[in-house]
Amino acid sequence: MTSALPARRRPPLLPGACLGVLGGGQLGMMFATAARRMGYRVEVFSDVADCPAARHCDRLHVVSLDDPQAVVRAAADVDAVTFEFENVSAAAALALAARTRVRPSPSVLHTVQERRREKAFLVAHGFPVVPHAVVTDAATLAAADRVGFPAVIKTTAFGYDGKGQRRVADRAGLEAAWRDLGAGPVVVEAWVEFVAELSVVAARGDDGAFARFPAVHNRHRDHILDLTTSPAAFPEAVGAEAARITAGVFTALDLVGVACVEFFLLGDGRLLVNEIAPRPHNSGHLTIEACACSQFEQQVRALCGLPLGAPRQLAPAAMANLLGECWGDGEPDWPAALAVPGVSLTLYGKAAPRPGRKMGHLTAVAATATAAEEAVLAARARACRAAPGT
Ligand code: AMP
Repeated sequence: MTSALPARRRPPLLPGACLGVLGGGQLGMMFATAARRMGYRVEVFSDVADCPAARHCDRLHVVSLDDPQAVVRAAADVDAVTFEFENVSAAAALALAARTRVRPSPSVLHTVQERRREKAFLVAHGFPVVPHAVVTDAATLAAADRVGFPAVIKTTAFGYDGKGQRRVADRAGLEAAWRDLGAGPVVVEAWVEFVAELSVVAARGDDGAFARFPAVHNRHRDHILDLTTSPAAFPEAVGAEAARITAGVFTALDLVGVACVEFFLLGDGRLLVNEIAPRPHNSGHLTIEACACSQFEQQVRALCGLPLGAPRQLAPAAMANLLGECWGDGEPDWPAALAVPGVSLTLYGKAAPRPGRKMGHLTAVAATATAAEEAVLAARARACRAAPGT
């Protein structure tokens, strides 16, 4: 799963250097933890002071990520910059890139942070995508008819975890949802009756070296990732095809860093690319416990120009998200969850457990993927006893 190419383009950034991360959420927290473990200093740039990464970094800069000059001023001491979510201003990334190493590059960010550009990129390079149409105003709403119904309407930017998305049954529903979402540019996608969702997290170095983690099986609830299992119980050819497409996407984007490609698997075995996340991904959290090198260590390595780590999986694993609902009437029963063999807990330190908010996750490693899945679901059921439906 790892391919090495000779001669890195520039000397690696060594431990002791200072790494910046744009965004202070849980992905920034886990990046900071991996980087500091390896001897790097970490500075976090966040719009808010009370963020998950705040307690895990050397310095927190509370700065508007939409203000390129403010970000550049705050980043005076960093030797390289990465990001933990794609909704940062591409202008800020570009301004940073003029003076320091930014990985993935601002051009990758620009392509994938806006759904129309992301789709156009995938189509232009021949990657399989969901049938879709772009709606920019009332006059182009009719273009969505050729996609058919039911359909999903998605805003073109700043959407995640199903935010800015609506499933619509017919043309009237589409029009109402479009107005409700602000009557701006949207992408309308056919509703895909997939048999499964999977994703591949991978890394690419400055020298073109590529390393991918195994394809994992994802189950969503209300458009939010609920459960990830690896290895996925798909025919080997499916995982191999997902890996092939992922490698192609990385090369076509000339992406250096860690990213995730999400897929729908159709009944006839075909894969469609759903979207690209230019950063570590929720479905890759189980790499912390289950793989020789985690997705976050890989992000550090790719950012610093170090050799990529081995993405080899050491044990079957499953990850279950802990959403705000789990808090129900009070603190979940952690001792009961942690009594399940093979289970570990990661909490993001968020104060307010709102419904749908990702507060943490549980991971289980076991002898088989099925056993890992059973363990993580049992642990979550024990933890979230007070909350029905979790
Ligand atoms: P997204 O934020 O676009 O990744 O969407 C979140 C989740 O919503 C996906 O992982 C799917 O479970 C579901 N979803 C999104 N788009 C579609 C679609 N075109 N057809 C069916 N389900 C979808």
